Amino acid sequence: MKLFVNSRNQREKIFSKEAIIKGLATNGGLYVPSDISEKIDMEEILNLSYQEIAYRVLSSFLDDFTEEELKDCIHKAYDTHFTSPDITPISKIGKDYLLELYHGPTAAFKDIALTILPHLLRKSHASQNKKIYILTATSGDTGKAALEGFKDSEGTFITVFYPKEGVSLVQERQMNTTEGKNTEVIAVQGNFDDCQRLVKRCYEKISSDRLQLSSANSINIGRLLPQIVYYFKACATLLKQGSITSKDKVNFIVPSGNFGNILAGYLAKLLGCPIHKLVCASNKNCVLTEFIKTGVYDRNREFYQTISPSMDILVSSNLERLLFLLSHDDEKVSQYMKELEVKGKYKVDGELLESIQEHFEAVFCDEENCKKMIREAYVKEGRLIDSHTAVAYYASKQYGDENINIIVSTASPYKFSNPILEALTGKRKENEFDAMRALEKLTGENIPECLRKIERLPVLHKRTISLEEGKQVVLERMEKLLCLE
Ligand SMILES: *Cc1c(COP(=O)(O)O)cnc(C)c1O
Repeated sequence: MKLFVNSRNQREKIFSKEAIIKGLATNGGLYVPSDISEKIDMEEILNLSYQEIAYRVLSSFLDDFTEEELKDCIHKAYDTHFTSPDITPISKIGKDYLLELYHGPTAAFKDIALTILPHLLRKSHASQNKKIYILTATSGDTGKAALEGFKDSEGTFITVFYPKEGVSLVQERQMNTTEGKNTEVIAVQGNFDDCQRLVKRCYEKISSDRLQLSSANSINIGRLLPQIVYYFKACATLLKQGSITSKDKVNFIVPSGNFGNILAGYLAKLLGCPIHKLVCASNKNCVLTEFIKTGVYDRNREFYQTISPSMDILVSSNLERLLFLLSHDDEKVSQYMKELEVKGKYKVDGELLESIQEHFEAVFCDEENCKKMIREAYVKEGRLIDSHTAVAYYASKQYGDENINIIVSTASPYKFSNPILEALTGKRKENEFDAMRALEKLTGENIPECLRKIERLPVLHKRTISLEEGKQVVLERMEKLLCLE
């Protein structure tokens, strides 16, 4: 059976169900597939539906699930929640392609994994009778997608922490209007990195034999694996329609923050998806660009709030998984992560840097260029793209080789209406929903129903806390949950 290994302790190997329940290892390490020698043949998946490709990919990792269990999870996630029958359709933008990942219930790519994760978690947990407590940090999009996924889920409670000033107004409103007796949304005076650190600390410091803490962040391997599927689906579609041949490879340009999406792309490549380069596109918080170019990871730098807030991140958790997958050296990874914790900085050795650069390229895009690309995509190509996608679109213009570029489009532009409207017209609206309507009127592209409706919904979550209060809030919540039993 397939095992998942702790990136900071190679001797700890566990089955997928346990890895999904735990989320993060107790020593702070992340679970990584221990063996990816199996290959998926593109010919074999050419005519399969999204759900069928999902089964092919996921069953190669989650082999302690029965076929029936896994298929049940896949169908519950993908049969009804998406507005496109292809789940992740691919379309043209100029000579390149746009992989549209925003047709789910919250209009961002986090939906792809968070529609299935609650089902995977429930099945993983079936043999235990502990309650599950999900702690989640969000840079804007994970929060709502996780709330939707876990809301009213039996035996589960979810708390989402978001940076008070660090998310778009629509993202905030989406979260704060969430119903469900088992949901809690809390604004934190801090940035995403602070929220993520808070959540990780809670895992490391708090344990309970009656309550199982777990995570909906991409530190959970159950979040990451479902994201491999759309890389295969995109390549299969291009192959089937004759846009590429079986000898060709493609580049994926991925707007990156916590490095989860692009890492799923790397796993797809290891499994045989015909990928040449994975281009890591960053915004003005360009810590990943510098790392991929020089091997130095340095979070001691100014933190910028940008118009692509879901990528305003200085500590990219999933990079740790890449370092382990490329080095297979838990001691080395532990050492780097320790340096990151203590000094805020580490430098990988030359050999490791070389292997990173064999697969990855990196480009960053500042605010000016981001707005310019939103305009250019609309005016030149007739495509309305969001600010995160625009960062990748810019990177696709900076990086080119003989292969086709597939730009990964991670959110609906209507989640960031004012900055997009401003990029297109030079003007903003006072009210975010007016901006949404103005954008719809200007472009003729419909506002997704899931965003349109939140204007009318009551705000149910209003709490703001300081970072220092975070752990106490979690402990109090746990106490309440245990009292209810
Ligand atoms: C989360 C997010 C990203 C970054 O993805 P990572 O997996 O964290 O690298 C990019 N764009 C949008 C819209 C997002 O929500």
